[in-house]
This record gives sequence, structure tokens and C-alpha cells, in this order.
Amino acid sequence: MTPEFRFYIWPFFLLLLAACNGHSPSSPPASPPPPPALIPLADGFDFPLGPPDGEGYYNAQPFGRNLHLGDDWNGLGGGNTDLGDTIYSIATGKIVFAEDIAGGWGKVIRVLHRTDSASEEAQIEALYAHLDTFWIQPDQLIKRGEALGTVGNAGGIYYAHLHLEIRSAVGLPIGGGYSADTSGYLDPSAFIKKNRPKSD
Ligand SMILES: [Zn+2]
Repeated sequence: MTPEFRFYIWPFFLLLLAACNGHSPSSPPASPPPPPALIPLADGFDFPLGPPDGEGYYNAQPFGRNLHLGDDWNGLGGGNTDLGDTIYSIATGKIVFAEDIAGGWGKVIRVLHRTDSASEEAQIEALYAHLDTFWIQPDQLIKRGEALGTVGNAGGIYYAHLHLEIRSAVGLPIGGGYSADTSGYLDPSAFIKKNRPKSD
């Protein structure tokens, strides 16, 4: 084959390839993936234990104390008296993570909450840690006051309690639960108190 012949045959070869591709039964037009479930609007926030007001529980280690990035919710009875108590979603939203990551975290749930009816982007994230049991699945939509799981002790390394974080920055790494740098984190109790449901 001369170099000239090779030069001229290339366009025909490519045309043939394109035609075959276009009619191949093995490449049907790709259907678009279903859109992700929209996050329903949070109509207010309640406390995660003893809802709506946290009755029967206290915040043993508030946000900021000892550089804590969350609140530690405990039963008034102390010790492990709250082990297995039901944890309720603080607001309507969407579960984005529910896994046992062991270590100091144990079972962790992360929930996205949309806080502005006008914007899909206005979101905060709640993180619940050290659970004993999950009652939900990732991608599940959840309503305020619906059960998420139960209070645990991260495999026995603490007295049972709920570590709750509320993050203004969505999708941060899991973190360490304590830091002098609080950027992206909110004071959970202050946030909940400021954003109670209007109609309840
Ligand atoms: Zn904690």
C-alpha cells in the first residue's frame, strides 16, 4: 500500500466506523440517571432525645467546652441509663450516611437539612454519633421527630450518650469531634433553640 493510498482511505474508514456505531444494537441511547431525591424543607428543629424539648436529658458537654465540636446528650439518670433510648431526627431532611466507622466514633448518621424554601443550596448537616442501633438507611428521607436509632457507647468505650454536631458546612470530613477551629460548625443547642418549629 502506497502512503498516498493510506492517506485517502482514512476518511472512508472513519465514516464507516461512525455509521456502524450509530446503528449498533449494543449502544442504545443512554437514559439519564434519575435525579437525586430533593431534600424536603426543614420546618424547624427539635432536640434529638426526649423531643421536642429534650425532657429527661441534659447536655453533659456543650459545644465549645474542652474544644468540643458538638453536644453530648445524656439521660438524667447518668451512666448507661440512656443506653438504647430512641434518638429522633431533629428536623426533616435526608439521610446521607449511616455506617459503623468504629474507633471513637462507632455508628454514625449524617443528615442533610434544607433550611430555606427558596434554595436547594441552603443546607446544614447534622451528625449523630456512638449509636447502638440504626433504624434508617442512607438516601432515606426523614421527618422531624422520626426515630433514627438508639443511644450507644461506641462499642463500650464511653458511658452511653449521643454526640450531636450541627455543621453549617456540608460534607466536611468526619473530623475528630474536638478542635479549636470551629469554622463550619454550629453550636447545636443554640441553633435548635433559635430554629424551633413555628406551629408546635
Ligand atoms: Zn461528644
